[in-house]
Amino acid sequence: MFENEYQLETLAIRAGTQRSQFHEHSEAMFLTSSFVFDSAAQAAKRFVGEEPGNIYSRFTNPTVSMFEERLAALEGAEQCVATASGMAAILATCMGLLKAGDHVVASQSIFGSTVNLFNTVMKKFGVETTFVSATDVAAWHAAVRPNTKLFFLETPSNPLTEISDIAALAAVAKQCGALLAVDNCFCTPSLQRPLDLGADIVIHSATKYLDGQGRVLGGAVLGSRKLMEGVYGFLRTTGPTMSAFNAWVFLKGLETLKLRMDAHSAGALQLAQWLEQQPNVARVFYPGLPSHPQHALAMKQQRSGGGIVAFEVKGGKEAAWRVIDNTKMLSITANLGDTRTTITHPATTTHARISPEARAAAGIGDGLLRIGVGLEAVIDIQNDLARGL
Ligand SMILES: *Cc1c(COP(=O)(O)O)cnc(C)c1O
Repeated sequence: MFENEYQLETLAIRAGTQRSQFHEHSEAMFLTSSFVFDSAAQAAKRFVGEEPGNIYSRFTNPTVSMFEERLAALEGAEQCVATASGMAAILATCMGLLKAGDHVVASQSIFGSTVNLFNTVMKKFGVETTFVSATDVAAWHAAVRPNTKLFFLETPSNPLTEISDIAALAAVAKQCGALLAVDNCFCTPSLQRPLDLGADIVIHSATKYLDGQGRVLGGAVLGSRKLMEGVYGFLRTTGPTMSAFNAWVFLKGLETLKLRMDAHSAGALQLAQWLEQQPNVARVFYPGLPSHPQHALAMKQQRSGGGIVAFEVKGGKEAAWRVIDNTKMLSITANLGDTRTTITHPATTTHARISPEARAAAGIGDGLLRIGVGLEAVIDIQNDLARGL
């Protein structure tokens, strides 16, 4: 098959391409809400599913299908379902695969909106969630109930880059009859393929590294054809599907995925090593550093450390804000996965809604800063940080 025959960087450029009657080289953007039929009989066959083909862009669209096939090849998945955003991907996974009375075990170190989704939306519809440590496999096992249907995690976590053992948690999930879903946003398939390690579902916020240039929102859910049936059914009925324009942007983004991820990782490692030598930095969190508590596990399940570096500045919030306010080039924004390096103070932005006690328990100190290392020269990033340090 296509997937086994070629390397990842080749698949990222060539997998999923379908040419129209015009034989275009780069994929076409099909900006059309609906599709026409040759006859009444053909329309009827399409609607009952007797004949494959497009009907309406909420159901399928050729540009979106090309993106889905390409990302499926990269993750080694049977099927990919593209969504309007990363949160739509997580919502569609939950709504497609869970029902009232089900229970979820989730890592406590996941994206803030994902925590809200489990605690408010899913709770309202009768799905309860227990949050456990990302790194404590025994805690996941202990949290399982007879009605546990889903394990949900992100690795590396945000902002502390904790590493969850995907293979170990996949084994626990299987033993308990639950599915394991991994939000692979920080690594992308270029650095980590959760399905190979035993996960059942991979989720993406394509908004981040899959685009890689901070342009559009999108998401994806990947897994077996059987599991994706429920996810796709939810999307087709309720509508948070990916637009053709955004799918086209992601197709172009994927073509440079390996080059970009290698450069993000190399830059992040260099920056993390430099930060470790700065006298006003108390601690650096980066999976590619030997000082990271799960360095060995990270290097086993990831191809490299990725582009996210966090560090604790001595002097708390005041010192951390001084670093941010003395930058001239870095973008002060909570986003990441961009060519532009971003800097965030989690305690007062992404994690501000959590109580100070819970934040302290999660290890997110007032002096913590998170850098989404972009593709600028590392020396320029260092100089920009050095002023405030
Ligand atoms: C940004 C992000 C999301 C949400 O994605 P959107 O595209 O913003 O909806 C989910 N998970 C992780 C890890 C993210 O960083």
